[in-house]
Amino acid sequence: MSIDKLEKQKKIALVAHDNRKEALISWAEENKDVLCKHFLCGTGTTAKLITERTGLQVNGFKSGPMGGDQQIGANIVEGNIDFMIFFWDPLTSQPHDPDVKALLRISVLYDIPIAMSKSTADFILKSPIMEEEYERHVIDYYNKIRKNNF
Ligand code: PGA
Repeated sequence: MSIDKLEKQKKIALVAHDNRKEALISWAEENKDVLCKHFLCGTGTTAKLITERTGLQVNGFKSGPMGGDQQIGANIVEGNIDFMIFFWDPLTSQPHDPDVKALLRISVLYDIPIAMSKSTADFILKSPIMEEEYERHVIDYYNKIRKNNF
């Protein structure tokens, strides 16, 4: 097990599928006062719309279907993202569903908190740990592999 420290100022990724974008924009607007204290990034269209509609500065990657989900996954691996608000659409399949699955897998592997609905996002944002440093635990696969003599 390796331990990564999250600073008080968190690096938050914001992603929403098209049918869930309004919900995420409203949530961001409601929570602007807290969100503006952190570093925000997101997939291209989500980031652009949140910035336009709320004034929050959100650094945009590529649009999700164009590789934005994969860029966020890579940034989680690099330690550049501490948690993710990901409002995915439970009623529509996406052309980039494999990327969505990969992003969720990498988030769990790196012990990244993920809010996939408004209520979870509310609980995460109002958690006392938001204001503190936090140690997340990453499974040490290298040691696991060595022990198993692969
Ligand atoms: P978008 O991507 O913000 O560029 O629309 C979201 C997604 O579909 O992953």
